[in-house]
Amino acid sequence: MKMPVTPQKLATYLDTHLECDCGHEHYASLKAVKVGEGALNELPALVRELGFKHLYLIADTITNKIAGERTMEILNNAGIKATIRVLTHAAFDEATVGELLIHKPADCDVCVAVGTGSINDMTRFFSFRCGLPFITVATAAPMDGFASSIAALNVENLKTTFPAQPPTAIIGDTDILKNAPYSMIAAGLGDLLGKFTCLCDWKLAKIIINEHYCANIVNLTEDCVQNVLAGADKAKDRDPKVIGEIMEGLVLAGVCMSLAGNSRPASGCEHHMSHYWEMMFEQAHKRPAPHGIQVSVATVLVLKLVEALLKRDIDFNAARAKAKAYDRAAWEAEINAAYGPAAPGVIAMENKAKKNDIEGCLARIDAIEANWEEIKGLLAALPESENVANLLKGLSAPATPAEIEVEGEMLKRTFLYCKEVRDRYTIFQLAWDLGLLDELSDEVIASL
Ligand SMILES: [Zn+2]
Ligand SMILES: [Zn+2]
Repeated sequence: MKMPVTPQKLATYLDTHLECDCGHEHYASLKAVKVGEGALNELPALVRELGFKHLYLIADTITNKIAGERTMEILNNAGIKATIRVLTHAAFDEATVGELLIHKPADCDVCVAVGTGSINDMTRFFSFRCGLPFITVATAAPMDGFASSIAALNVENLKTTFPAQPPTAIIGDTDILKNAPYSMIAAGLGDLLGKFTCLCDWKLAKIIINEHYCANIVNLTEDCVQNVLAGADKAKDRDPKVIGEIMEGLVLAGVCMSLAGNSRPASGCEHHMSHYWEMMFEQAHKRPAPHGIQVSVATVLVLKLVEALLKRDIDFNAARAKAKAYDRAAWEAEINAAYGPAAPGVIAMENKAKKNDIEGCLARIDAIEANWEEIKGLLAALPESENVANLLKGLSAPATPAEIEVEGEMLKRTFLYCKEVRDRYTIFQLAWDLGLLDELSDEVIASL
């Protein structure tokens, strides 16, 4: 089938090989997504359609109460064989894997994650290692990781990611999702807000470093986020329609990553800020704010930086002079100070990526200058930071870094060095290429 040029319903993009005018073939292995009021009731029909005979449900004591008991009742009433394991070892570590293995029915042919976050990750991993598919019954929609194919587990007391698999089907019953803690609803919306800046990053990469780009995937994501935002103020009333749209938007973001074959459609500089904060909190043995909340705060900061950049008259020759003065040894010293024990990994990545090397930077400055009007147009089309901040405040969600305990030196270092967590062209790399990242971030911090 041809990849649609105008955005279609989510189902159009599932388990179908799509030939695209971007030159790539896109594919997402997810087979079914049911989102809406009473969607859980569709599980028996879905299970029959997919041909599964014995379901192994995985829940913890909380998600069992929220959705596990109800799911078992629906399956039992429909005459579908199901076994549930309510975890007694819920640290999502080696003991959890052991518990799941010990109690796994010999003839089960599919696992079902009843929950979000860690339960999904554990089921994603466990089912993958057992050679079984899995289905997600979501109990909240706080981030876009549903369709992901990697899993984070605690192994030897360290959060470690492992290859795993995306689910075969996802169920988001809004009768369940609307009762999720309010902070989770705001977090889900926050993760979607970050799509504006990450898609802008991708557009910049296309223009400046000629990266492969798919306009159809970008339009699909943008269309979905705009649609969700139109009703976002009703999220605080737990409006089931809006909650369903957030859930579907988060699933779609995951599907778009599968289609693209990388995380460009869903993660950019706003996520790099969040990754840096995660690392810093982990090093300080502190718990960071939920992922989606971090992303929404970061999005406001990126938008402020863009606004400060757009006010400048760019002196491209000054940028070239600055690029030529790049001092690799000084950079390494700064990375050591900013990343602590994580610095060697960051430095090793730059050794391969060479994104800060003088020659590459000068070539990019030429490309930026040649396309400056188009680039300015892209940046100017982003939402206003004030509007996004007001939307967050209206939802009683944090809108400033201080509200999530990111302040002072850590905040400044985030602006300067978060781009080093990935080899990826972003708005921050653009500001760095122009020799303005330092000044602009001071301006943004002073305005907070
Ligand atoms: Zn995210
Ligand atoms: Zn494409």
